[in-house]
Amino acid sequence: MTEVERVQNIMRDVNSSKDAVKKLKYDPSTRTLRPASCYDDPDCVKPVTHQDMNLYMNLCAAPEACITISGSFIEQACSRGATYHALFSSKDNGTVFTLLQASKVETTVNGSLIFVKNLDDADVSVVGCDTDSVRVLVQKDRISDLRVKGYINKNGKWQQARVNIVPVKQQLFSRFAGILETNVLSEKHVLIAGLGSGGSAIAVRLAQSGIMNFTGIDHDRFEVGNIARHAAGISDVGRLKINIVRDLIHEKNPYATVKGVAERISWDNIETFRELVKQVDLVICATDNRISKRIMNRLCIEENKVLIVAGAFRRAYGGQVLRVRPGKSLCFQCFLDSLPQQAQDQEITSIEQSEGLAYTDRPVPIEPGLSNDIAPINQMVVKLAIQELLKGTDTTLKSLDEDLTADLYLWLNRRESQTGYEDLEPLEYNVDGITVMRWYGIDISKNPACPECGNFLAELSKRANVTVTKENAEEFTCL
Ligand SMILES: [Zn+2]
Repeated sequence: MTEVERVQNIMRDVNSSKDAVKKLKYDPSTRTLRPASCYDDPDCVKPVTHQDMNLYMNLCAAPEACITISGSFIEQACSRGATYHALFSSKDNGTVFTLLQASKVETTVNGSLIFVKNLDDADVSVVGCDTDSVRVLVQKDRISDLRVKGYINKNGKWQQARVNIVPVKQQLFSRFAGILETNVLSEKHVLIAGLGSGGSAIAVRLAQSGIMNFTGIDHDRFEVGNIARHAAGISDVGRLKINIVRDLIHEKNPYATVKGVAERISWDNIETFRELVKQVDLVICATDNRISKRIMNRLCIEENKVLIVAGAFRRAYGGQVLRVRPGKSLCFQCFLDSLPQQAQDQEITSIEQSEGLAYTDRPVPIEPGLSNDIAPINQMVVKLAIQELLKGTDTTLKSLDEDLTADLYLWLNRRESQTGYEDLEPLEYNVDGITVMRWYGIDISKNPACPECGNFLAELSKRANVTVTKENAEEFTCL
């Protein structure tokens, strides 16, 4: 489009506008603009410049039109050539377009990033692709300060739109500055087994904390009965939980890498999971059955990785969080052997048994407060995980290490009838004893004869006062 044509378009728009108070005329020979009523009066002359036209273009573009793009995306695209095609998304048929998205959304439009020598010379109507609805011009020699112009195609005409360049990477965790240097956590890799009501919420919180590498394990698909307690919603019904959680992580942390494994954890495929455990810094087990917890316990002891096991009691009247530090603390098997009754309270091994239970992925009726009752347990898992991952670094969270010295923690949401906590003093009157809604660290040592983390045969020999070997161990196991 020539300059005269552009101005004529502008003039036509102005003159057809209901709000136009004065009709204006443009004189191409003198490049001036003046009201029709004083066309012959030289004092009425207003010279028209590029800036005027750009200002006019800005004003007449749809005022809500806006293009949002991350600075790092432009830099990446620049290295790929003069024109980079990208799918922008818009919501509700609006004129707000964005390239910031964790997964593909339904409403997407074609767009191009076009790298030009000079922004002011580039003609947006002749560059890009025929199918474009959005074009962003970037001045090539000024990538460092990202000088850009954005245009949207509305009713067949290119109109200038505001461009927001968001330094996503820098802004994402800017609120943590001074509390937690998130780059300390960015190299860490966390494995989360079980992505139900516990694992999904834990994953999202860890992504918000700046952890960049995740492996998720869950073979299950999301069902309507999960909605009340899960981080996902009704539009995710039918999807694999690992894919839902990957998207949830990317919504919070688009730069995170997420590996999903949709396999059931069993003794038969333990070696598959060993390979995954080897690659991470920390393992969180939020599954709903004892077998998977025992398998992750064994793998973490053998591979020397810290394991955090989360579990809620029946109907989430309370819960426990266990931290397994191989060689230093008790393990999940020690916990089972020491507190069989409490462990039994968390045991969910069948669909029938899971009816009405809270901390399981199985559909259960919606109960008031259940999700709220699981939240403190998830929160404690996240706190312990971050403290473990920050070990050895100097952050403002360091003092928490002195508070979180126990390896087993207890939380009670209420004084559930028919449990050992039924007769506790109410919170209001109880200052020193156990009450609801407080965390308690439980001092519990490892079992030297633990078949997983202890020396079972040596301990047995000591107790039987004979040498017990693998071959004759069965004769003495009743000891
Ligand atoms: Zn043990």
